[in-house]
Amino acid sequence: MNFTCECGKTSPVYSLYLHIPFCTHRCAYCDFNTYAGQEDMIPAYVEALCKEIDHVGSRAERSASGDKAQAHTIFFGGGTPSLLSPPQFDSIFKSIRAAFTLTPGCEITIEANPGTVSYENLLELRKIGINRISFGVQSANAFELQMLERAHNFFDVIEAVTSARKAGFDNLNLDLIYGLPEQTLDSWQTTVNRILDLHPEHISAYALTLEHGTPFGRWASKGLLPLPDPDLAAEMYEWLGETLDANGYVHYEISNWARSNSEFGNQNSEFMCQHNLQYWRSLPYLAFGAGAHGYADGYRYSNVLRIKTYIERMNNYPIPISQFPLSPATVNQHKQTLKDDMSEYMLNNLRLVQAGITEADFRSRFGSGLMEVYGKEIEGLIRLGLLERDGGIIRLTQRGRLLGNQVFLRFV
Ligand code: SF4
Repeated sequence: MNFTCECGKTSPVYSLYLHIPFCTHRCAYCDFNTYAGQEDMIPAYVEALCKEIDHVGSRAERSASGDKAQAHTIFFGGGTPSLLSPPQFDSIFKSIRAAFTLTPGCEITIEANPGTVSYENLLELRKIGINRISFGVQSANAFELQMLERAHNFFDVIEAVTSARKAGFDNLNLDLIYGLPEQTLDSWQTTVNRILDLHPEHISAYALTLEHGTPFGRWASKGLLPLPDPDLAAEMYEWLGETLDANGYVHYEISNWARSNSEFGNQNSEFMCQHNLQYWRSLPYLAFGAGAHGYADGYRYSNVLRIKTYIERMNNYPIPISQFPLSPATVNQHKQTLKDDMSEYMLNNLRLVQAGITEADFRSRFGSGLMEVYGKEIEGLIRLGLLERDGGIIRLTQRGRLLGNQVFLRFV
């Protein structure tokens, strides 16, 4: 997304990702950069975050009209961002608004755990300007939630959704996980039906991955955790797609569905996550906070992982960093080549199961023809039944959605 001024000059419109790496408890399957028992550092962390926003924002390209740089989405991810208090969010927003102009209707999302929010708290967050909540539900089944070591039960989910509605939130996402050890098709169907009863605007469903270095990963490698059956997981995914389609949700990304605006059949929805679409469309996003990853001005970069080091770096870093979008917290940076950008564009945009990739968009981004660069790979995947051509659009087939990694590997 670019902003074009009357004089014809264009400037990027950014998405902002803010990482809040605190959790009250570390779940056994989680490999996110998050820490339990370090909540006493939240005030210092918020201060450091504000400094990083000032630092990067003051170096961001001004909008074409000469005003501050523009942002059209903000995403507080974690960790558990809902552990921050409303005044702490308030101070973060003061820094954001000082450094960026927020576009009208700017999507502002917070991730929250169902057990960590109250009506009063949600009302404050809504007043501050947060307009979308993503609740980490994962399952409606008590045994599955216990196995995942989640701190909430499904009654907390009902309570959280009811309170969010009462506080004025009209854009809710509910996150689910399928393919759990010992999960049955029946228990998955019950979870999905319970979720549908809550009428969320958006549903995300990811297959469980056993990550190296997590307790789940270790238990599985020692044979202590029954591995999820991949065929059953595929059956769960297919059933989910059919059920959400029948209930008026648009399947727009491999793992994401948004409630359709018209009764049925509309392939567009105002509830698609605009922030994540920025990633999937390979458009620029700025990263703030410990372990956050960003992509802007030709750089992919990431920040130091540990909370204490992040705070120290933002408070007294001896070397001035003037290169946008980097900050004193940056520890990895990679200047992208054209080949990197093209390859990542294919990987990201093919995730968009309806929009896919068009020759026109590829040419406008890179100045070369899609088939000139990737014709061999695309034709091969079409022959295998993993990609399809629909007019000018190249997209995943139903089978390709299940075997996405095999498709993406061809473009690496
Ligand atoms: S609540 Fe979420 S981020 Fe925190 S440990 Fe559990 S899965 Fe990870």
